[in-house]
Amino acid sequence: MKTADIVGSIDIEQIELKSFSRSMAEIEWLLLILVMLYYVSPGAHVTNPFGMIVSLVAFSLFILSFHYLNFNTKQTRWKLAIETWVMIGFISWTLLQTGGVSSPLLNLYLLAIIASAITLGKIITLLEIGLIAAFYMYLEAPTFRSTDFTLIDFSQIMTLFSPFLLIAYITTMLAADVHSSRQMFKSLSETDDMTGLLNKRSFHVTLIKAAKLAMRYSQPLSIMVIDADNLKGINDEFGHKAGDRLIIMLGDIIHDCLRTSDVIARYGGDEFVVLLPQASAGKAIEAGNRIRLAVQNSSFDVGGNRINSTVSIGISSYPEDAVNINEILEKADKSLYQSKKAGRNLVSHYSYPESEDITEQTVIAE
Ligand code: GH3
Ligand code: MG
Repeated sequence: MKTADIVGSIDIEQIELKSFSRSMAEIEWLLLILVMLYYVSPGAHVTNPFGMIVSLVAFSLFILSFHYLNFNTKQTRWKLAIETWVMIGFISWTLLQTGGVSSPLLNLYLLAIIASAITLGKIITLLEIGLIAAFYMYLEAPTFRSTDFTLIDFSQIMTLFSPFLLIAYITTMLAADVHSSRQMFKSLSETDDMTGLLNKRSFHVTLIKAAKLAMRYSQPLSIMVIDADNLKGINDEFGHKAGDRLIIMLGDIIHDCLRTSDVIARYGGDEFVVLLPQASAGKAIEAGNRIRLAVQNSSFDVGGNRINSTVSIGISSYPEDAVNINEILEKADKSLYQSKKAGRNLVSHYSYPESEDITEQTVIAE
């Protein structure tokens, strides 16, 4: 097992949120430029020019601080939601200064709606449309006060407002389609085809998160590396398909022997790796032996031949064996090597029982 590439592990959700955040920044700059262009255009109608300049400066400071000051911090959907709310506030203020619902800038709400529909999904976009509707009614309020509110007024408002609803509906629908196909690709890219378990790359993402939690809350964590014994021999004697069936059976057995909070991945070939959060060395060794015995007692039939195999297991634990992820994986690997060297069908833990000599660190089951 190679441990060096763990440093290069990527979190797909963060990448997606960061790219949303970049698009959001572009939409915000675009909004700012459009309002500024209107402001400097001849014949622009602005009731409070000073207030307008203050709001332009405040909005550009908001964009700068939100996108460029905390550039390296974690992106969240909440940050994106706050940005769309601020956009709606800025647009409403601008409309108030430029003629209310008859302002030529009314359609700027579309920018906020599209930004929200693409990045935040249906529910938040609907809430934001509700917010826009509330601002809209507020801007229309002087008209209602001067005359009776008739059915014609209502239908006029609905006619003006329906393009917003329509665009929100269509954009959210398209965004949902893109989202579901992205989820499908994400799940395919995270899963091992043969066993349905996680693959190496997504395991690393989970491991990094779990290790951070363990270190922050001073909790134990163990890693178990499991490798089939003599798979080459089974391939040679019974064919590659029999070897495949063995790999699938091992995945199922490992899954059945562990807690739902444990994370299992196929690391490649006949090697599996398990993350056991909050598991001390003792608990991990117990789990390792459960797996080892379950494999030893399982078999399947190929052309009238009963095929069975065994596994060798290596374990290391945080904090006794290592202080970082690479080290803990490396030591689990060394323990696996130890199990192989000592005769296979064994569980070894890197530091159990305590000894200076690695050859005495093998926990020989039975
Ligand atoms: P050891 O007991 O030392 O682990 O011996 P081994 O024969 O299991 O060999 P090793 O773990 O070093 O290598 C795994 C072998 O498993 C290499 C390859 O021939 C075979 N193998 C790797 N991936 C697959 C697969 O997807 N399907 C099958 N059928 N065989 C595979
Ligand atoms: Mg093997």
